[in-house]
Amino acid sequence: MSATIIDGNNLSTQVREEIAQRAAALKDKGITPCLAVILVGEDPASAVYVRNKVTACEKAGMRSIHDDYAPDVDPAVVFKRIDELNADPTVHGILVQLPLPKHFDSEAVLEAIAPEKDVDGFHAENVGALMQGNPRFIPCTPYGVMKMLESAKVPLKGAEVVIVGRSNIVGKPMAMLLLAQSCTVTICHSQSKDLAFHTRRADILVAAVGRAKMITGDMIKPGATVIDVGINRTPEGKLCGDVDFETAKEVADAITPVPGGVGPMTITMLLANTLEAAERGQRGA
Ligand code: NDP
Repeated sequence: MSATIIDGNNLSTQVREEIAQRAAALKDKGITPCLAVILVGEDPASAVYVRNKVTACEKAGMRSIHDDYAPDVDPAVVFKRIDELNADPTVHGILVQLPLPKHFDSEAVLEAIAPEKDVDGFHAENVGALMQGNPRFIPCTPYGVMKMLESAKVPLKGAEVVIVGRSNIVGKPMAMLLLAQSCTVTICHSQSKDLAFHTRRADILVAAVGRAKMITGDMIKPGATVIDVGINRTPEGKLCGDVDFETAKEVADAITPVPGGVGPMTITMLLANTLEAAERGQRGA
């Protein structure tokens, strides 16, 4: 039997409608939620991500500021711009698109963003808050995954979860969020022995690696929920995930596709975090 598809496009549309309504309510009070996005360099994928974020903001009735810098820009210029945005009360969210060129200290850049405007949730203060179970901003991709699990009514309490990938952006925050929902969480990575042994035990399997179709149907427990975060290209140039969708959908109970799965939800949750930051500002929180 073929798995139920957890449709990220559909869910995104619903959540973005709610966000647009809340943004409009805030506008009536004289506050337009605003996201500032900084892009350094000419990486084509990053340029597409930034464009999508800016467009999504505008469609939701939010304002966006978009600053582009040449790949060889002096980091001091970018730090100065972050300081200005931190101090600007009409800016509610600030995001620096990663990866940054090699001459940048990425960690220092992320730490320069005011924690209350860090809508990506990458500042150490926000990472710590998430770790303590009291998040201020949840990183957008894992936040989107949680929304997808909620919408698909996937039982979380006591579920065996296996996350493949331990990045600060996806794997680690994903683990914290699922742990907070009383899942039993295993995190695998490039040095894990016998990956399939772990993945076959998973009621919920999250793949966040960046290797095309590496999780095949025989690595999945029958009836599992499979969340594919990966964004890769096949040798023919087609977008695909970390999961081999064709074999996986025959074993899983529910699965997210690529494209049209986690990707749209990531941008949606960025809008949600920006709106939340603006609402907090209005409440004086
Ligand atoms: P990173 O490269 O930062 O992390 C990849 C992780 O995968 C690492 O922890 C690495 O292990 C692990 N890994 C690598 N090879 C293997 C292997 N053979 N077996 C098991 N684990 C392995 O990537 P990101 O977390 O940033 O992104 C992961 C994927 O998700 C990418 O395809 C990215 O494009 C996509 N992505 C998608 C988003 C979306 O909106 N849908 C948003 C963000 C990312 P180790 O730590 O040991 O090196």
